[in-house]
Amino acid sequence: MKLNIKNRFTNELPSDIVEVNEPRQVVEACFSYVKPQNPSNPKLIHSALEVANLVGLSKEDTHSEAFLNVFSGKEVLKNTEPYAMCYAGHQFGHWAGQLGDGRAINLFEVEHNNQYYMLQLKGAGKTPYSRRGDGFAVLRSSIREHLCSEAMFHLGVQTTRSLALLLSGDEVLRDVLYNGNADYEKGAIVCRVAPSFIRFGNFEIFAAREDYKNLKIITDFTIKYYYPEIKTEGKDKYISFFEAVANNTLEMIVNWQRVGFVHGVMNTDNMSIHGVTIDYGPYGWLEDYNPNWTPNTTDNEHKRYRFGNQPKIAQWNLLQLANALYPLIDEAKPLEEILNDFSKKYEMKYLKMMHDKLGIKKEDENTRNIVYLLTENLQLTETDMTIFFRKLSEINKEDSVETAFEKIKNAFYIIDEVKDLTLDTWFYWLTLYLNQLNIENLSNMERKIAMDKVNPKYVLRNYMAQLAIDDANKGDYNLLNELYEMLLHPYDEQPKYEKWFAKRPDWARHKIGCSA
Ligand code: AMP
Ligand code: MG
Ligand code: MG
Repeated sequence: MKLNIKNRFTNELPSDIVEVNEPRQVVEACFSYVKPQNPSNPKLIHSALEVANLVGLSKEDTHSEAFLNVFSGKEVLKNTEPYAMCYAGHQFGHWAGQLGDGRAINLFEVEHNNQYYMLQLKGAGKTPYSRRGDGFAVLRSSIREHLCSEAMFHLGVQTTRSLALLLSGDEVLRDVLYNGNADYEKGAIVCRVAPSFIRFGNFEIFAAREDYKNLKIITDFTIKYYYPEIKTEGKDKYISFFEAVANNTLEMIVNWQRVGFVHGVMNTDNMSIHGVTIDYGPYGWLEDYNPNWTPNTTDNEHKRYRFGNQPKIAQWNLLQLANALYPLIDEAKPLEEILNDFSKKYEMKYLKMMHDKLGIKKEDENTRNIVYLLTENLQLTETDMTIFFRKLSEINKEDSVETAFEKIKNAFYIIDEVKDLTLDTWFYWLTLYLNQLNIENLSNMERKIAMDKVNPKYVLRNYMAQLAIDDANKGDYNLLNELYEMLLHPYDEQPKYEKWFAKRPDWARHKIGCSA
């Protein structure tokens, strides 16, 4: 196993002076050197060949002893020094102080085909940032992270990747919400891959401590390597940086809304500086189209991180980043403008995205009304978002309203629930929609092809991940492998996986997975 190792982060940024994994406050440093915990009996469950290739590894490499040892934390590669990052964050709207990589350990950076990748283990033991945690991850949450990061990538959503999923061979004690009692679970490790794992919180920590020297150091580093297109100097450089992060975050959020992904814990320490989805915890997928839904049971009262609130929260998080960068800029106006633009740009991009989902090319008052009425209609009765949009592309412009309704009605959870009034409302909407299709120039086939590229057929529904988890806990990984294969092609018709293009079964209603 040969990797082209680079270590720009550790070479260029200030490190902690102490080298013990004991939880503590770490000041004037971007990271601490740490040692991954030695796993007692590591086993590879699954590796993503695509991600392996990305970092310069072959299929054979992924089956090698070296791969197993390095990505389980058993062996530290020569010329590498694993480390945990120091960052802070706002959690559920409140300042939380120092957080840091409590159960993530950055192994090394790799350069391959002129691209740089950080490889990071999640669940490889304690770091100075573990606070009261044990630094471990359980199989359940690791499967959810591994499968979902790859599913998201293939859906075209900006995300961290996942190279491998391994068992550590150790037992981990968890107070499991999911079966009601404290229990031992199988420990697991995921190797995540991203340009870097720098978060908004990496800037917030120095601003909060008024350590402007290190704030400048990490910001300059981030711009130099991850936003090299920014050529300006002085405060303009930091303003451009903020604007670029805001734009990347915006793209990601529009895609979340497009596929019905709810992150569940949009704390500022879970916001990547690259605008990629990071930290797959209690995330979920909208089944019932309900903007107030959140998969996070700990957020059930305020529902801060509900589906419909994600764009606003992204903007709020960007405001925290703006506050953190402010000392380098010393001028509020340009930052405020970027934040205000965020809502305007979001509104525009959201509408464009919804028009794409509907296969409507023109945009005017009428089409915006079609979008608006649709989001109202989808909430009248429990409607499966994924099935609805996928079925919508089967409508032909020559169809009668009744025929069109027949084509989408399988997306409703309880057909009997579609009462007269609801039916009238759908018929009215379908009349508007069919009229619009007849104004547009696209043929039925052209429109279907375009729609099926933005409306996935297969997403990782919570119950699907749960079934794979239940089997995996018994040592059976067939379903995990099957879901992984299917999710490589979420927009394609895959007859052998047709059974997964179905409404969530009744037993899985409002059940969710949790993150710990
Ligand atoms: P999260 O909500 O998963 O993004 O985690 C928030 C903070 O808690 C981060 O600093 C994590 O590193 C830390 N953390 C979460 N779980 C654990 C754990 N099992 N052991 C140590 N730290 C953890
Ligand atoms: Mg986190
Ligand atoms: Mg987490």
